[in-house]
Formats: sequence, structure tokens, C-alpha cells
Amino acid sequence: MLNMERQRIQDLREIDFSKLEFQDLRWQYGVFQSTSTGSGREKRHGSWIGVKTGLGEIEVKVWCQAAEKLIQQKGKQELLGYLTQWCSERNILKESADRIRKRALQLHVDRIFDNPRWVDFVPFNRRYRPEVLKTARLVTVVSKCCQKPGVVTQEQIDAACEGAIACPCCGRWSHFEVTDSALGISEHQAEQTNGMEMT
Ligand SMILES: [Zn+2]
Repeated sequence: MLNMERQRIQDLREIDFSKLEFQDLRWQYGVFQSTSTGSGREKRHGSWIGVKTGLGEIEVKVWCQAAEKLIQQKGKQELLGYLTQWCSERNILKESADRIRKRALQLHVDRIFDNPRWVDFVPFNRRYRPEVLKTARLVTVVSKCCQKPGVVTQEQIDAACEGAIACPCCGRWSHFEVTDSALGISEHQAEQTNGMEMT
């Protein structure tokens, strides 16, 4: 770990990329602060918009550059491209391309695609990294809202809040019934759920 806690980073050159890991850049929370320098007539007002990370606070623009660079350094641009595509296809708020890219960078630095509790873990990996699902703990559920079988992870069920999970069909928070937790991935493909029993 690099020990640069509490430092404010405003230039990419202040970051040592030789030992940098994704966890060092993980977006903990955004920081906004009004700033003023000088006094009297010379006083200037500004603002600091940063990201709290393990390295300290990084200016948002610099954080994005750093995340892009680290992903490139680790040869993971393809995965970043998948996440960008994934986020832009679900852009219900009609956000700008820059914001979509920033969101994809946050998700990538978080390694969200490896986290079985991520609500999109199954559909994202089924589309882009099917090999990951071979070792995942998959469970077929039927949720109250859609009444259709869908696949989630055991981890999502373990983390269920008051008996509800994000519905694998529509994404709404919903109660559910487990219909099966022992099938292999080939039988779990949502595209092949025709004929599955609806209980
Ligand atoms: Zn639903």
C-alpha cells in the first residue's frame, strides 16, 4: 500500500503507477468543498470536487484519467468496453457519455463483475464472461412480481433484505421462491427457461 493518506491529488503525475492496484483507486465517496484563498480583495473562491480513495482525495477528472490508465496498464480495456456498453444500454436517466464512462470506470475499479452480490452479476457475466458462471453458486427463483423463473446467485439470496431480492426479470425489489438450486449452468440459461415449471 502506498501511504499518501489525506493528500489531495490534482495531477496524474502525482500518482505512482508502478505498484498501483485497483483497490488503491476504489471510489469510497465523493468530496465537495468550497475553497477560498487569499484575503480581503485578493480572496478567491473556488471549489474542490474530489474522490476519496486509499491514496487520499483525487480530483474527479484526474481520478478518471488514473482509472483509465490503470485499466490500460493491466490490459483490461476490453472489460471496460463491456461495462461501458452495459451502462449505456441501461441509461434510463439519459446521462452524457462522460458520465456513463465515469460510471463504468467506478464499476471496473470496484471489480463489480466478480462480486456475486451485484444485481447484474448473472446477466452481465452470462453475456461477456460465461466461464465465470461455471463456478458461481446459481439459484433459480420465481419472484412475486414477474412470476417467471430467473437466475440469481446464492450470495444475493443470503443478502436478501426482509425476504426480498432484486427480481432477475425486472429489477424490482421483490419476494421470491427458490425453485431450484442444484442445476448446472447449462440448464440455467434464461433463454432456455421454456417449459420450466412455474410453481
Ligand atoms: Zn419482476
